[in-house]
Amino acid sequence: TKKIGVLALQGAVTEHLQALTKLGVAAVAVKTPADLEGLDGLIIPGGESTAIGRLIREQRLEEPLRAFYAAGKAIFGTCAGLILCSTDRSHAPDELRLGFIDIEVERNGFGRQVDSFEALLPFEGIVEPVEAVFIRAPYIRSFGVGVRMLASIDGKIVAAENDQVLVTAFHPELTDDLSVFAYFLKKVG
Ligand code: GLN
Repeated sequence: TKKIGVLALQGAVTEHLQALTKLGVAAVAVKTPADLEGLDGLIIPGGESTAIGRLIREQRLEEPLRAFYAAGKAIFGTCAGLILCSTDRSHAPDELRLGFIDIEVERNGFGRQVDSFEALLPFEGIVEPVEAVFIRAPYIRSFGVGVRMLASIDGKIVAAENDQVLVTAFHPELTDDLSVFAYFLKKVG
């Protein structure tokens, strides 16, 4: 069985663990560097990227996360997790960006009035449109070499991948549609 961690510092953790369990993989809440040992992949969930970034530093998880990535393990960032996984060269200097995927992001990119919305989203590599929940979501403004766009809405890119890392601007864990998780598990070696 594959063993997948969910970074459990803040945000939508439980729903991710439940979705993974439904797909028959062992799901582990990650709170300390030791929790990363033996994992085949990791999800960085949605929440508040500034808060999660601060907690990553407080829990001394930044270097262990970079080592996890350097070891070639698959990583899935959702919403705030997308922001944290990005290179996002325009970010405020005190905010953490792990640079696991070469994308520039627009935080809260759908406008302050548009707090949340749902969409049936065509997704490259998944046959049926995906049930996607957006909550103060970012979008991907541009991407670099080796990054493939997987989904967009109104011309804004909301999902992308490289060979190791998958990111979605939406929350895949808030509906019964497990297709994006199944897609991620295909990236897990
Ligand atoms: N707007 C949040 C941020 O900038 C992300 C929202 C989410 O993860 N649902 O971190």
